[in-house]
Amino acid sequence: MRIAVLPGDDIGPEITEAALTVLNAADETFGLGLDFDVHEVGMASHRKTGTTLPDSAVQATFDADGVLLGPGGMTAYPPRSEGGINIPGTIRKQLDLYANLRPARARNGLERARQGLDCILARENTEGFYADRNMFLGSGEFMPTPDTALAVRKITRQASRRIAEKAFALAQTRRKHVTVVGKRHVLQVSDGLFVEEAKAVARNYPDVTFREVDIDAMVADIYTNPDRFDVILITNMFGDILSNLAVALSGGLGLAAALNVGDTRAAANAGHGSAPDIAGKCIANPSGIILSTAMLLDWWGAKQGGEKFNVASKAIEQSLDVLLTSGRRTGDLGGKLSTQEFAKAIAENLREPV
Ligand code: ATP
Repeated sequence: MRIAVLPGDDIGPEITEAALTVLNAADETFGLGLDFDVHEVGMASHRKTGTTLPDSAVQATFDADGVLLGPGGMTAYPPRSEGGINIPGTIRKQLDLYANLRPARARNGLERARQGLDCILARENTEGFYADRNMFLGSGEFMPTPDTALAVRKITRQASRRIAEKAFALAQTRRKHVTVVGKRHVLQVSDGLFVEEAKAVARNYPDVTFREVDIDAMVADIYTNPDRFDVILITNMFGDILSNLAVALSGGLGLAAALNVGDTRAAANAGHGSAPDIAGKCIANPSGIILSTAMLLDWWGAKQGGEKFNVASKAIEQSLDVLLTSGRRTGDLGGKLSTQEFAKAIAENLREPV
């Protein structure tokens, strides 16, 4: 499996190196035949080439079987006209990665974890309020008068249908339950369309139970009844917000994993930001990006029918769980290990999963 690696900014290179430590060990242990094609991106690239995302890096993502993206420090980028290109946004569009899958599972031994939580958000990744995902509508935000700002939210039947298909297919591999989340009584037309498509897809999956919950009820419910949720089907911005809550309830933001998937391609990237406040200190928690790479291996195993990839994915997650339970953690979770020490400990403890 060839993986294009774009380490990103701030803590990006540190946690990506940690992920590569674990991937190399998994490769050795399970004979995966991994091959890495690393490309410098972000501000490090901008200083040398005048762009945060050189064409060669984009091409590498097309040529590879999967992609590993470190977080980008977009807020420090110059304007797009001066080479400040949104890396994940561009890769997502180019590879048509329309589903953002974000798991959140309570990790044993973590004081802040809500026991019983084991869900995954299937977040629509191409539309919504976000200006860069609203190409149909220009920027998606505008001022019709000097004193009025408007933001337009785009929801289409086609995009709603395909993310719903992903969510239900995912549910069949899990506990067979989908919760669609919106605010349909207020956003009657746009959330109405999203939910309508979810209901249409639900009819094709009679073995999957389905219900609708409003976003405001949802934030209370996931805290109070964390074990009630399996797959959560959700629009873009609500998904962005709810996924941070869900991952906080799993034990902390450093655990945030994400896989961006389309019909034939996938990119792993941590579900948190580039954390400029702790960059260069070797204290960042690499769990999120490591769990994301485990998701990438699992996706590839399912796509190619290569069981060893699924086994390696499980082994990585179990090794990480063992470490967290033992109290050997990075500082954000109350431990003393550096980013690389934590990754090495996961790598050394890779075993056939039970
Ligand atoms: P973005 O807007 O790019 O999503 P953000 O502004 O929401 O980013 P993050 O970069 O995710 O913020 O950081 C939020 C806080 O969480 C910061 O204090 C940061 O140090 C901390 N944090 C984020 N990721 C990690 C990590 N992997 N390990 C430890 N702390 C982290």
